[in-house]
Amino acid sequence: MKPLITPSSGVHVVLPDYYSPDGMGLIVPKTKDGRVIFMLPWLGKTLAGTTDSSTTITMLPEPQENEIQFILDAISDYLCVKVRRTDVHSAWSGIRPLVSDPSLTNTANISREHIITEGPEGLVTIAGGKWTTYRSMAEDAVDLAIRIGSLKPTNFCVTKDLALAGTADWDPAFFTLLAQQFIRMKKTRSGKVFPGVMDTSISHHLSCSYGSLAQQVAVIAQDEGLGKRLAHGYPYLEAEVAYCARNEYCETAVDFIARRSRLAFLDTNAAAKAVPRVVEILATEHKWNRARRKLELKSAFAFLETFKASKNTQFEDLKH
Ligand SMILES: Cc1cc2nc3c(=O)[nH]c(=O)nc-3n(C[C@H](O)[C@H](O)[C@H](O)COP(=O)(O)OP(=O)(O)OC[C@H]3O[C@@H](n4cnc5c(N)ncnc54)[C@H](O)[C@@H]3O)c2cc1C
Repeated sequence: MKPLITPSSGVHVVLPDYYSPDGMGLIVPKTKDGRVIFMLPWLGKTLAGTTDSSTTITMLPEPQENEIQFILDAISDYLCVKVRRTDVHSAWSGIRPLVSDPSLTNTANISREHIITEGPEGLVTIAGGKWTTYRSMAEDAVDLAIRIGSLKPTNFCVTKDLALAGTADWDPAFFTLLAQQFIRMKKTRSGKVFPGVMDTSISHHLSCSYGSLAQQVAVIAQDEGLGKRLAHGYPYLEAEVAYCARNEYCETAVDFIARRSRLAFLDTNAAAKAVPRVVEILATEHKWNRARRKLELKSAFAFLETFKASKNTQFEDLKH
């Protein structure tokens, strides 16, 4: 049987903010060799990509040096400065699950859209798709299951208008309330606690990431002495690790540095420096023993090894 999925590797790199000043970005729909290249502002940095090459599926894909260089060269063509390898704060590879419709025979049917098929005995298969269409993908799959199973739901899909967690009482100025109402209590290694401001970059990050639930993170930062930044120059707080462990099922250090925060993707070296503290806080939350702590450190560093950043010395001072 023909496989449904054609895996395609895509590399992205993160560059300093000055490549996308004042929120400006660049997209080239067709470069001289016919590819798509973009450079966009992302979480205070510049995200540039991407490549599209056939690959095999592995758990920890790694970007190749020539793929990184291709992106840097391609965007350099449109700028008056050279984009240097040393500017790369993080580089990673992801595998797109492109689908080919098994009912079609030509290769042009490989798609970034999703397909849904009905298999033997009413088995519903959904494959491919994109992040931007995840909700309608789910709706399509459930609708087909309803049809095949002759189910009688009492209402149509409601997810289109379903508010996400943290939207209650939130508005774009919410970050100013956080900045005004909270302080960050920072604990030194020796246990001394001293106050710090909830500055705009931190309150804005908390408000955008957690919505009105950011208040709960700010309370942890203030009342439990977990108000230190996890990495110099980034708005992620120690309190977020505790909050994610308690409320969002964050069970591993990799989960925190990659998904709850985006530090691994923004700056690999800064993420590596944050790992021991992330493990320490998760260990307290989840009551990990020494062996589990060691394992978490090992798997977090192995994960970060797959990111190909250049060594970045600006984070050496360790002031948080
Ligand atoms: C290179 C590339 C470029 C892309 N570009 C775009 C784009 O421009 N626009 C767009 O809309 N989409 C894009 N996508 C697609 C988008 O990233 C995916 O559609 C989206 O991430 C899917 O989200 P998900 O939550 O379903 O799965 P995932 O993001 O894959 O999340 C699943 C998570 O589950 C975890 N997991 C798996 N198994 C287990 C287990 N047993 N226990 C615990 N955890 C587990 C995985 O580690 C993973 O973190 C792109 C994808 C790639 C690879």
